[in-house]
Amino acid sequence: MMETRKRDLLRSLPAVDAVLRAPAGETLAGHHGRAAATAAVREALRDLRREISAGESPVVSEEAIVAAASQLLLGRGLRRVVNATGVILHTNLGRSVLSERAVAAAVEAASRYSNLEYDLVSGGRGSRYDHSVPLLKELTGAEDALVVNNCAGATLLALAAVVGEGSKEGLAQPEVIVSRGQLIEIGGGFRIPEVLALSGARLREVGTTNRTRLSDYEAAMDENTRAILWVHPSNFDTVGFTESVGIPDLATLGPPVIADVGSGALLPVGGEPRVQDAIRDGAELAIFSGDKLLGGPQAGIAVGLLRWISAMRRHPLARALRADKLCLAALEATLTSYLDGTAKEDLPTLGMLYAPATEIEERADRLAEELRRAAPGLEVDVAASVARSGGGTLPTYEIPSFAVRLGGGQEAEALADALRFSDPPVVGRVREGRVWLDARTLLPGDERAIVAAVVDARG
Ligand SMILES: *Cc1c(COP(=O)(O)O)cnc(C)c1O
Repeated sequence: MMETRKRDLLRSLPAVDAVLRAPAGETLAGHHGRAAATAAVREALRDLRREISAGESPVVSEEAIVAAASQLLLGRGLRRVVNATGVILHTNLGRSVLSERAVAAAVEAASRYSNLEYDLVSGGRGSRYDHSVPLLKELTGAEDALVVNNCAGATLLALAAVVGEGSKEGLAQPEVIVSRGQLIEIGGGFRIPEVLALSGARLREVGTTNRTRLSDYEAAMDENTRAILWVHPSNFDTVGFTESVGIPDLATLGPPVIADVGSGALLPVGGEPRVQDAIRDGAELAIFSGDKLLGGPQAGIAVGLLRWISAMRRHPLARALRADKLCLAALEATLTSYLDGTAKEDLPTLGMLYAPATEIEERADRLAEELRRAAPGLEVDVAASVARSGGGTLPTYEIPSFAVRLGGGQEAEALADALRFSDPPVVGRVREGRVWLDARTLLPGDERAIVAAVVDARG
């Protein structure tokens, strides 16, 4: 019985060509090109065949197949989206947006030859690791610097290199001391205890989740102690009965202090630790991200003592974690903005963080006005909202903002879906039965895209 039905359903599936000849199929091919549409329809048919074979009874019609193919095409490929969430370093939406200078530098590095690993002075081989070093030294006060692919990689490499030096010096089982309050998970499976294990270090936990004192570190120090790791908890806050030890005190203990400061703030933002302060306070290595509060490309940056940075460069993991030329070019341009004192104007991330709420309100008002004109009858107003820095930074830091609110009731979910399906997709939030489009994270040109998406969604 079952097998007969399965066979009948499988037989009823149309051919790829038949689907593409149907009106909906023609539209799909017109929109995405024939090759992409053909591949997507083929994939949708394969999915249907799999469902039928598994005993399910999916709807089999040309329209349903085209709809499934269209969804497959929509979700595919890296595309621009409009971030109307109010989360500035939205991890799912690509974290930092590069400055025009950084983009221009990356484009030039991509489309021309460069001195990536060529020394123009000697005419011989150079090192990709040298390019941003003078800028990083100047900005952080550190002796030396190294740029790799991301901060997770830089942390792993730093620990592996420092622990590796320890083994050379004859430590049988090099240990790294970490407070229990800092044994954190950053996200995407990056957990400090696991990274430590991977680096070859033995983890020596001290203190408790909420309280760790200097004496806890002291009591744990012995001949196997290789380093003290200080980690910025980044994406969570402990409040109440808490105590922790800062870098200045840890630095008095003797073993090198490695500070994973995470967000890479060079300017003051809501009490986030600044890289240059970690160095000034005595960290022998400070590690941070390029695409969080620094506002540059994805990168992991280590600054600190010459001895540790050169150990990191020599370590075999460095090659596996190396940054590519587009990243290095964009990073150099980003750092130049800091040195020029134009970071707040140049870097979109900082612009969004520091823009006064009144400016955001004006932007929201203008957008609301345009929407009322373009979509008469749609419920539109402006409300105070809260923006966030995001990207695992400043979890409790609320940035006063303003949002345009659309629709009401049932309509909101459907409208939010439709906005996400538009081109470019517009990503907002649904709250209290309305679609909220936060104006703080909008970039030039986004307003026009939003108006077009809303008009489309209602048509
Ligand atoms: C974000 C973060 C990382 C990971 O940085 P990526 O650049 O995403 O690899 C590591 N450590 C801390 C403390 C962080 O905040």
